[in-house]
Amino acid sequence: MILKKRKFLKLLSYSLLFFCLPIKTIYATTKKIFNQNLSNQQKDIMFNQGTERAFTSSLLSENRKGTYHCANCGALLFDSSAKYDSGTGWPSFTEAVPGAFNTKVDYSFGMKRIEYHCANCGAHHGHVFVDGPGKTGKRFCNNGLCLIFKPSQ
Ligand SMILES: [Zn+2]
Repeated sequence: MILKKRKFLKLLSYSLLFFCLPIKTIYATTKKIFNQNLSNQQKDIMFNQGTERAFTSSLLSENRKGTYHCANCGALLFDSSAKYDSGTGWPSFTEAVPGAFNTKVDYSFGMKRIEYHCANCGAHHGHVFVDGPGKTGKRFCNNGLCLIFKPSQ
């Protein structure tokens, strides 16, 4: 009887431990690395919710027509027609390709923000705000390192 109780307590503590794991840890296990050539910085952003330094992305000055894809899995995320200069230092878009992203509420750094990640591979891309200039009113603030630009032929 005592043994049984011990076993039960052990099980209970394991399940409590599971529920107490930070959501981020559980979430991270649902992500998958497809591109084995990702740099450490890209991995940190895409799989550890990191952020690249503002005004460092070469995509800020990219004004050609084309499409933007996930640097991890290659999924189509944005059309160049949605890109605009928000002045924030990160590539910004007024709308994403429908179904390209899933979102979740992010409370890190004492702020309530909407985080978005690739619907296909789960890689973090940025945060979406509601101060955009387009008809959607949205501003997708995307880390440039998470994107691959393909100019149209
Ligand atoms: Zn992806």
